[in-house]
Amino acid sequence: MRIFDPHIHMTSRTTDDYERMAAAGITAIVEPAFWLGQPRTSLGSFTDYFDSLVGWEPFRASQFGVRHHATIALNPKEANDPRCREVLDLLPRYLEKDGVVAVGEVGYDSMTPEEDEVFAAQLALAVEHELPALVHTPHRDKARGTERTLAVVAESGIDPGRVVVDHLNEVTVGLVRDSGCWLAFSIYPDTKMSPPRMVRILQEYGLERMLVNSAADWGRSDPLLTRTTADAMLAAGFGEDDVDRVLWRNPVEFYGQSGRLDLSDMEAASGQNRREATFAGNSILRGGS
Ligand SMILES: [Zn+2]
Repeated sequence: MRIFDPHIHMTSRTTDDYERMAAAGITAIVEPAFWLGQPRTSLGSFTDYFDSLVGWEPFRASQFGVRHHATIALNPKEANDPRCREVLDLLPRYLEKDGVVAVGEVGYDSMTPEEDEVFAAQLALAVEHELPALVHTPHRDKARGTERTLAVVAESGIDPGRVVVDHLNEVTVGLVRDSGCWLAFSIYPDTKMSPPRMVRILQEYGLERMLVNSAADWGRSDPLLTRTTADAMLAAGFGEDDVDRVLWRNPVEFYGQSGRLDLSDMEAASGQNRREATFAGNSILRGGS
């Protein structure tokens, strides 16, 4: 089984996580730029962070056989801090780099006028740099936040087929499907979305334009939940080709629109990973009994 996690914050994770991910078949990832918890007070903090996302982190991932890509943006939370506004001027430099496959995470946190401005400006950057956009939806007031998100996306003129709207649930899935955007779901250990709920959504809405991620970061999260969801799909009667479509071919198709996805040599590697993944899957089952 080959798995592409299209949204995971490896900066916050350990080398043990990389090892466990590779053993479970998770061999390609996208790491979106996000809020680090501690507010940043100057432009230099962002420069160093973005450099790490396109330099150090891909190198660290490669040591464990994981192919790393990034998305770059000013995140919705820090869009509200006037000290961070200059980041918008820094972005064009990073949006031209190899390994940067989208503008993101952009979108809403608290739905303030400042967030409106920064969101629209970054969708314009995506159009200008011919990149897809990864859009975060707010955790509070999700339905209203998602409606407003889709209105801003429509106004921006970006092709909805180049936009993924993330952190969806049963309440917001229908709205986004009708918009033509891609749909992403973050699977968490105990909040928001679980593997069984994800399987039910796939049964009801189908596999087209569907992405599943772990969104693992510095909070309570689990970088193996993409694999757990793949196993739950198989257990519910989906075939291996269905799993491959949702957990590999869909993210490859979406981020491939950047023209910068580098998965060379991955086909040769996936045979080996498939054997390791089976072994790891067996160990996981034994460990869980
Ligand atoms: Zn995130």
